[in-house]
Amino acid sequence: MEKKKIVVVGGGAAGFFCAIQIAELHPDWEVIILEKSNKILAKVKVSGGGRCNVTHACPDIEMLLKKYPRGERFLKKAFYEFATKNTIQWFANNGVELHTEKDGRMFPTTNSSDTIIDCFLRKVHQYKIQVLTQHEVVDIKNNDSHHHALVENKIIESKRQKAFLIQLQGRADMQADAICLATGGMLRSDPNNKFKWLINFGHNIVDPVPSLFTFNSSEKKITTLMGVAVDKASIQWKGNKNIETGPLLITHWGISGPAAIKLSAWCARAMAETNYEGAIIINWTPSFNEATLKMEWINFRMDFGKREMGSKNPFDLPQRLWHFLIQEAGIAANTKWADLKSANQQQLIQLLTRYTLDIKGKTTFKEEFVTCGGVDLKDIDAQTMESKLMPGLHFAGEMMDVDGITGGFNFQHAWTSGWLAAQHIGQILPA
Ligand SMILES: Cc1cc2nc3c(=O)[nH]c(=O)nc-3n(C[C@H](O)[C@H](O)[C@H](O)COP(=O)(O)OP(=O)(O)OC[C@H]3O[C@@H](n4cnc5c(N)ncnc54)[C@H](O)[C@@H]3O)c2cc1C
Repeated sequence: MEKKKIVVVGGGAAGFFCAIQIAELHPDWEVIILEKSNKILAKVKVSGGGRCNVTHACPDIEMLLKKYPRGERFLKKAFYEFATKNTIQWFANNGVELHTEKDGRMFPTTNSSDTIIDCFLRKVHQYKIQVLTQHEVVDIKNNDSHHHALVENKIIESKRQKAFLIQLQGRADMQADAICLATGGMLRSDPNNKFKWLINFGHNIVDPVPSLFTFNSSEKKITTLMGVAVDKASIQWKGNKNIETGPLLITHWGISGPAAIKLSAWCARAMAETNYEGAIIINWTPSFNEATLKMEWINFRMDFGKREMGSKNPFDLPQRLWHFLIQEAGIAANTKWADLKSANQQQLIQLLTRYTLDIKGKTTFKEEFVTCGGVDLKDIDAQTMESKLMPGLHFAGEMMDVDGITGGFNFQHAWTSGWLAAQHIGQILPA
């Protein structure tokens, strides 16, 4: 009996996880990982600031789905098969304990991404998975046309060929019975050049644009507040319905912090379409909107009437920010609350609840940037990760049009899709 040969393209998180699961299911099969660079698991190594935020403590699948700006509907079935608790269990079974931080992010207890890499390398060694670096896949062809021969007017299978023919840069071709593509995020220039063959199979590539970034502002005024951090602010890309609430940081180039980075994920495409030029509306006091703050203002005037505006900040905002806002509203710091003129009051309420910051450009968030876009999900089976256009071809990880916000959700998708692809590959090939 000929040995089954499975090729996983891409030596990253999704590729390794998929290859290990296939080998675990069928230790007798030949499983090969092809990696174009000379490094494997490079992103795992640097992930989470070198600590690898493996997943998130989010056992509720409906809540988990809400963390994916792209892929929420697609991932539903997948997460019911393999989600965060399966990840935690899988790593525990393989000697890696995870711990949870206050914000729900989960890391190996060693706080080192090497623990994850070592775990994968142990499994690769255990199952004799071949990891071939500097093997760049440049084309994949369906080998089916060579499968059959005509004998006595009947089509019979000829000397059995493998289903796929894989072309490698500067190397001999390789054959495979099934393939999992896990080549990671794409650059805008990639799809047309590097994935022509995927397009030839009929797959559509959703235009890749960056996600998870911070915003540059053309306004110099606010950047004088560099270093000011607000625990809870709401921000919105003008003209877009998504609002993110959370910590916000004023930087020397604009704004950053969890609220900004999450907003970049939800608005990644809308912002790319405007070439990152527009405005962000900031509510520094997110428990109020303009109308409710106006009402509350009556109480402030009564409660703090004799106090000076500069020294009484009822919102617990950093003093530098409060002073900046009252100054912007044309109010002298020594103005008494009771003496505040109605026009200045209105201006301050507006600045507190709808501060409009002009945005021009973005900055890569080096901690965890991902691609929005990739292989169109409409042609991928959500339960098996198999191509609907090319049986035997599977996808895993960031190369698909799925991406999550920060917090371990992108790796969770890599594990889930890698696991599902492996289960399916393990089932479809005849013994
Ligand atoms: C700095 C940084 C930190 C991050 N930290 C976190 C984190 O803590 N938690 C989290 O959830 N997410 C994190 N992410 C996101 C996460 O790393 C990715 O979503 C995840 O690595 C995607 O895995 P992947 O296997 O799909 O792709 P990748 O890890 O990108 O792997 C794809 C591999 O395929 C190879 N390849 C590409 N084309 C070919 C080809 N033609 N032939 C052969 N090989 C090819 C590439 O060289 C690469 O090694 C981080 C991202 C970055 C950039």
